[in-house]
Amino acid sequence: MPRTALLVACLLLAAPLQAPPADALPASQAPLDRLREYLAIDTTNPPGNEHHAARFLRDALHREGISTRLLMSPNGRPNLYARLESADSELGALVLVHHMDVVPAGPGWESDPFEPVEREGRLFGRGAVDVKSLGIAHLEAFLELHRSDVALVRDVVFLAVADEETGGAEGAGFLLERYPELFDSAAAVLGEGGNNRVYQQSLVWWGIEVAQKRPLWLKVRATGRGGHGSTLNLHTAPHRLVRALGRLADRAPVFRVSPPVRTYFESVAQHQGPGFREFVGRLDEIVASDEPGKQLLPGLPNYLVDSIQINRLSAGERVNVTPETAEALVDVRLLPDTDADAFLLEIEELLGDEVEVEVLLRAPAAAPAPTDTELFRCFERFLERRGPVVPTFIAGVTDSRYFRERSIPAYGFSPFVLDGTDLRGIHGPNEKIPIDAFVAGVRTTVDLVRACATAD
Ligand SMILES: [Zn+2]
Repeated sequence: MPRTALLVACLLLAAPLQAPPADALPASQAPLDRLREYLAIDTTNPPGNEHHAARFLRDALHREGISTRLLMSPNGRPNLYARLESADSELGALVLVHHMDVVPAGPGWESDPFEPVEREGRLFGRGAVDVKSLGIAHLEAFLELHRSDVALVRDVVFLAVADEETGGAEGAGFLLERYPELFDSAAAVLGEGGNNRVYQQSLVWWGIEVAQKRPLWLKVRATGRGGHGSTLNLHTAPHRLVRALGRLADRAPVFRVSPPVRTYFESVAQHQGPGFREFVGRLDEIVASDEPGKQLLPGLPNYLVDSIQINRLSAGERVNVTPETAEALVDVRLLPDTDADAFLLEIEELLGDEVEVEVLLRAPAAAPAPTDTELFRCFERFLERRGPVVPTFIAGVTDSRYFRERSIPAYGFSPFVLDGTDLRGIHGPNEKIPIDAFVAGVRTTVDLVRACATAD
């Protein structure tokens, strides 16, 4: 499509859609039915294909008389926006955001990942935890507010975005770039990324994520003369790439305690057993030792190093043909205060001059979301009835980073009390959510949003 036509199409699509009268369609649908329906929509990213998902959510909003805006990225990826307005919006808006896309299903599923099934009290389907269940909880909270007669003390926004799983450029990144005014009055954004501590199916603490690592995604490429595979040539593209990557793989990780990570560990220590408190007490000593990795439980090194993972290799097709190019995709995750320029330089030096490095994604540094905001305190007051709240740091990345880059407080919160077994399916086979935990989490979200958005 020519540029001007595309622009006109975008503007048209960005216009508010007329909502049908509230009584024209059936009223509410049980959240579990909604989740089943949402999981059945294949939004595998790439390519994402979020159109059906956006329509499904939009229809649910329209059925209850709520207008929506469909904001299309220039590459045609839909983002759905709806707002409930308060009469007097002196307090900033609460934005509920989730992503519609999911990662590819991959092998190992016992059932079709896009035909949700119930087994042993759990609902299986790609996106059950990451993160369509949260989307339905947000939707339910938003619809409940609209249905109730209670006056809002702040605006509440429902936002479903595209493209989070491949970096968010067509989703949250695009919206903040193209429509920053939608977030002008935002007091806080509530999205994915919360990591609750659950022991024997009971909540130990709620984790509201306030800081995370930064992605630095690289493509490493080598070229060389192709030809018959039987010819001795040590400077082919694959040989060059493998030599360069070998040096990267052998790089010893450098352990250190980044300030947001220290704050996180110290907050957690208040609610964990003596073992963890002792670990936090010895943290600096461990990090300064010769082999910190050997003294840390699995998973903990992620919080203490800039990680480098070589995740994709491609070169050639046959054993007896030398290809002319060879490529690798490398996923680097930086601690919040790492100097990205210096780190990239170190990687380029290690890789050497036999390969080219292209930066695919590089997230700017952003300060952690503040915990002294009025909304964070409201979340705390509400959630503490059930368990303490810990501001957390995660080694993963979410769309929250786009908001934090613009100094909009963004908090990762999961209302679902899930243990390690239930979380194992995220980005893997047989993703599932216990139905009880889902239903309870929806209730928690409805009540939390009501508590912080109304005078009730
Ligand atoms: Zn996610």
